[in-house]
Amino acid sequence: MKKIITIGEILVEIMADTPGNGFLQPIALTGPYPSGAPAIFVAQAARIGQPCGMISAVGDDDFGRLNLNRLAADSVDISAIAIDPERPTGSAFVRYRPDGARDFVFNIAHSATASIRLTDAGRALIAGADHLHLVGTSLAAPAMQALALTVAELVKAQGGSLSFDPNLRKEVLHLPGVRDTALSVLALTDLFLPSGEEVYVGTEAPTEAAAVAAHLARGVRAVVLKRGAAGASYHDPETALTHPGFKVTEVDPTGAGDCFGAAFTALWLRGTPAADALRLACAAGALAVTRRGPMEGAGTLAEIRAFAASNPET
Ligand code: ATP
Ligand code: MG
Repeated sequence: MKKIITIGEILVEIMADTPGNGFLQPIALTGPYPSGAPAIFVAQAARIGQPCGMISAVGDDDFGRLNLNRLAADSVDISAIAIDPERPTGSAFVRYRPDGARDFVFNIAHSATASIRLTDAGRALIAGADHLHLVGTSLAAPAMQALALTVAELVKAQGGSLSFDPNLRKEVLHLPGVRDTALSVLALTDLFLPSGEEVYVGTEAPTEAAAVAAHLARGVRAVVLKRGAAGASYHDPETALTHPGFKVTEVDPTGAGDCFGAAFTALWLRGTPAADALRLACAAGALAVTRRGPMEGAGTLAEIRAFAASNPET
């Protein structure tokens, strides 16, 4: 089985119990939940049975321990997750507005995430890796940009593959260096996992189909487009497939993209036919939105299969 590694942020998420606007008065909160897009990805891939590891850093605090315990329980290799004695573990407070938009209070830029370095443990993890997954959110910090590219180049140079979920909200895309780094990562990408407008990153294409074609022409082996409740589509130079979303009651959409991407990537690395991988990835994404907390809905392969078999599609 191919080993997947990732590099990026680990944080806790603390959620408001009721929808509303922001955090300007005392409100009931639930959390901390383990989180961070790359951490959600490896937790889900590991639950499916893929060997996984992560390069990151947490603080010497309960938010860090909560995440380390969770990743270890899911059998993720945590040997390259450093414990920063000075900075706290990252956090995100999130509250949904009545219209579904979200307000956040982040402590990420000045958290342990800012101290992620390539240590001996990280180099050892890379040496044993077959695949690297990168997420756009991890590219916000300038120090992470060079590091992510270095790791991508190392994994590719030893014959490994790369998946990239641009996950680039407009606020992030305009930070210094983010777009250029995303383009450099894209140039090394084998499996591209955009959502919505992100498919246009790095192209001048007028339509979604033209953007997909441009990525494939430049050497991306497969593009998988996430469409929220509407499901997803898969494109490689020979094949185009779509799968509808599964009908579920959405409780918390955070983490759906990462669970979807992890399920697809793990199955793709095993050589699962694209149609099956797409269907099970849609099921993994749908399962993720049925639970509160970014990784709480991550299922095992048996759970994902059972869900896909017993739930209607939209
Ligand atoms: P994120 O907010 O985590 O970045 P994303 O935009 O990357 O998410 P989505 O398209 O929201 O990704 O979700 C990924 C996949 O999960 C979708 O392609 C779909 O298959 C499934 N999914 C997401 N939301 C729902 C939903 N409400 N109902 C059914 N399936 C869903
Ligand atoms: Mg996304």
